[in-house]
Amino acid sequence: MPHNEKFIKYPIYHSVKAFDRIATKVRVWAGYCLVCDSLTLFLVDGRWLRETLLCVRCKSTNRQRQVAYILCSSISALIGRKLRCLKEIASLDNLILYNTEATGAVHKTLSTAKHYT
Ligand SMILES: [Zn+2]
Repeated sequence: MPHNEKFIKYPIYHSVKAFDRIATKVRVWAGYCLVCDSLTLFLVDGRWLRETLLCVRCKSTNRQRQVAYILCSSISALIGRKLRCLKEIASLDNLILYNTEATGAVHKTLSTAKHYT
């Protein structure tokens, strides 16, 4: 094994994928937002899709929706029932939620929970 294949080198640069190139040209996508539980449009505002693709309804970013997806998947596995959006997580009475955010779409949705800090 050559020396340079033995270790991971940082920073790691990935090539821009076809979806990213198309998304930055199209600038508007339709889809389901699991932060606000809506069929909606996502606006591309810049080249970095992670912090853009803003939901026109709740203003969540792509990164926030990815976090919401992981939350839904993880809590679904814990309780043995499929949760598809943050509103369903917020409706759970026996769950204590701690969020370090004090503003934004995720905070706004989860703040309706019974035990939210
Ligand atoms: Zn939304």
